[in-house]
Amino acid sequence: MRIFGKVRHRPSASWRQATDRAFTLIGDGRYEDAGALLTRAADLEPWLSESWFNLALLHKFRHDWEQARAAGLRAVALLDRESGAPDWWNVGIAATALQDWPLARRAWQAYGLKVPGGGQHSAATTEPTGMELGSAAVRLSPEGEAEVVWGRRLDPARIEVLSIPLPSSGRRWGEVVLHDGVPNGERVTAAGPAYPVFDEIELWAPSPVPTWVVLLEAATEEDRDALEKLASDAGFAAEDWSSSVRLLCRACSESRMESDEGDGEHLDPHDHSEPGHPGPLGHRTAGAGDLWVPERECGLAAPAGLVRGLLDGWVADSPDSREWRDLEEVC
Ligand SMILES: [Zn+2]
Repeated sequence: MRIFGKVRHRPSASWRQATDRAFTLIGDGRYEDAGALLTRAADLEPWLSESWFNLALLHKFRHDWEQARAAGLRAVALLDRESGAPDWWNVGIAATALQDWPLARRAWQAYGLKVPGGGQHSAATTEPTGMELGSAAVRLSPEGEAEVVWGRRLDPARIEVLSIPLPSSGRRWGEVVLHDGVPNGERVTAAGPAYPVFDEIELWAPSPVPTWVVLLEAATEEDRDALEKLASDAGFAAEDWSSSVRLLCRACSESRMESDEGDGEHLDPHDHSEPGHPGPLGHRTAGAGDLWVPERECGLAAPAGLVRGLLDGWVADSPDSREWRDLEEVC
């Protein structure tokens, strides 16, 4: 064995055994026992980057961000790759969770991404905004009653939710979600672009804006669109759940599915998970040929002091074709 230069280090059989067993335990949700084994593996092979990468991964699953950052930094210190290492991505996620912006910037750059403003002293310590990563979908509560919603990527680990999540999700429009790095599903639009679906890790920042449900009578699609525009112009959101939500089984949700492109701000539909796949015809999506039904169940994201005025204003613009009732705050 050479002392200097790069030596491809092969881990011992006992390291492999402990590590394999640990990942089986992780699969069963037994994080404590897995942690003991991975710590032992790291004691056996402290110069092996994978020892620390695996520990960092475990701490990510446990949402223990201080430990994930510490283990992740040991992993990247032992890396022999220039860029593109998932180790750096996980450091970026941990740093983002901790709002350790200098480290988050360093992680994305080391991975090979361009981070604007990082060169200046003042900007280097602020959130890595301006990376222009575009839209993506995120699966809220992937372990529970999952719901895929659309949002805007703030940086490689965060999405701002721009759909109005359904009341059952207990979640809100405008939330910022910390998400995992490897997409778990894809949504393709007729226009061509494909968007990744990321799994949420945890809520990063809550939203102060409550969710309402309201029943609309909208004579035409244009009447419905007018409410969505009014809400959007006011800085909030309305979403016609009657047309924007479809049910997908988990297998379809995690695969490549077609999706309609919305007004550019968010994309419809979002997906709410259901247990089974409905036979060979697959999941039904509301299509352009469907007859318009005037009664719409609509989600609204707006402050309590604004929501009734918004609806009244919408009706006042065209009293003959619009009505609302049964407004209820749901989240
Ligand atoms: Zn399915």
